[in-house]
Amino acid sequence: MDLTYSPEHEAFRRQLRAWLRKNLGSWRRGQERLDYDDPRRIERAKQWQRVLYEAGYVAMSWPKEYGGQGADPITQAIVDEELVRAQAPGLIGQMGIQMVGPTLIQFGTEEQKRRFLPKILTAEEIWCQGYSEPNAGSDLASLQTRAELVGDEFIVNGQKIWTSNAQFADWMFCLVRTDPKAPKHQGISYLLIDMKSPGIGVRPLVQMTGERGFNEVWFENVRVPRDQLVGELNQGWQVANATLLHERNMLGAATRTQELFAALVRLAKLTSQGGKSVIENPVVRQRLAALAMRVEAVRYHALRQLTDTVLGRPRGIAASVNKLVATELNHDIAACALDLLGSYATQSSQSKFALDHGKWIREFMFTLGMIIGGGTSEIQKNIIAERSLGLPREPRHLPREPRPETGQ
Ligand SMILES: Cc1cc2nc3c(=O)[nH]c(=O)nc-3n(C[C@H](O)[C@H](O)[C@H](O)COP(=O)(O)OP(=O)(O)OC[C@H]3O[C@@H](n4cnc5c(N)ncnc54)[C@H](O)[C@@H]3O)c2cc1C
Repeated sequence: MDLTYSPEHEAFRRQLRAWLRKNLGSWRRGQERLDYDDPRRIERAKQWQRVLYEAGYVAMSWPKEYGGQGADPITQAIVDEELVRAQAPGLIGQMGIQMVGPTLIQFGTEEQKRRFLPKILTAEEIWCQGYSEPNAGSDLASLQTRAELVGDEFIVNGQKIWTSNAQFADWMFCLVRTDPKAPKHQGISYLLIDMKSPGIGVRPLVQMTGERGFNEVWFENVRVPRDQLVGELNQGWQVANATLLHERNMLGAATRTQELFAALVRLAKLTSQGGKSVIENPVVRQRLAALAMRVEAVRYHALRQLTDTVLGRPRGIAASVNKLVATELNHDIAACALDLLGSYATQSSQSKFALDHGKWIREFMFTLGMIIGGGTSEIQKNIIAERSLGLPREPRHLPREPRPETGQ
């Protein structure tokens, strides 16, 4: 692992920093929290992505023919680091840029790439993920939303749940069952569905943060053209897993953890107890030091993966490690902030008593959700145990035996 950057990369970093100093202004994070119910805010978030795109900094590593810059992975990593360092707002089109976009680059047809990728970058089209169902979460392959191929169209019926951003998304990448008779992993297909299609119903669900971030989605005889199938018919499980890897890397991004920890240190400096800044308290310092060591481990793990990507080495189960370690660490950082805030910890952003704009109680609840979304910590541990450590597979469900006394 080589920790030095080339002169070209250093020059690029300086140029990006200068651009951010000049252009970030009122877009800065904190002033721009996305309110899911307010179309004006969503429009503004799209504008920010557009500004960044026009400056050439969105998805720089994507191929040029689809709107990217064909940049190397180190340049992309510098962009990710600098945006976080400057406290730039997150991108509303993140699921498109980091999940379905890279999946289409890998599995999509040429027409699909040309049709969908550029509009992901410009935020003209926002995407949501239709994976989970009421009876298919950790055991995703149990999904039952049915898609029947009739002529040149799929007819989709069923229900998805916990679908983040569905209330304002333009498109969904969706897993459907196309062969109910096949073994469960083999009868699934990956469809791109226009959220404006007749027969789609969306109902927001309130999260414990009080936000309406995810939704229930129903499909009633929704018609989807056959050319919106990604990969082969009934082979969607492989495509779905590629998207999951991207999602786990996104949720486990080291930059997000570094940003959260930097905010915690700022809080510790600004909060005082008994006339002294709490950062001078030795117990607080020990706790911060313990967290700092974990944050550094995450950072070096990310750098090692960057090296693997540059050298074309396989990354193994790194996505699961990232997701598991970073989401749990983010939650622990938020928990530490609540302890520092003491009785002010419970005050939300609406309260006049809130400190740090009520950021931390929201982070505490939100980061708990991130431990669940994208595959829970238990599922990541199973993946790491089975695919990397070579531990025995967890017991699979055995076929149900008829009960002797009832015959049922
Ligand atoms: C904030 C948030 C956003 C989300 N956004 C989306 C989205 O946009 N699109 C989407 O499709 N889904 C989304 N989800 C859903 C998410 O993917 C599921 O919640 C997750 O996969 C877990 O499924 P489940 O909720 O059905 O829980 P279950 O699978 O019922 O799990 C319940 C508990 O049992 C444990 N468990 C289950 N199986 C095992 C096992 N084999 N070994 C050990 N423990 C096990 C789990 O770890 C968990 O603690 C989101 C979830 C959250 C919290």
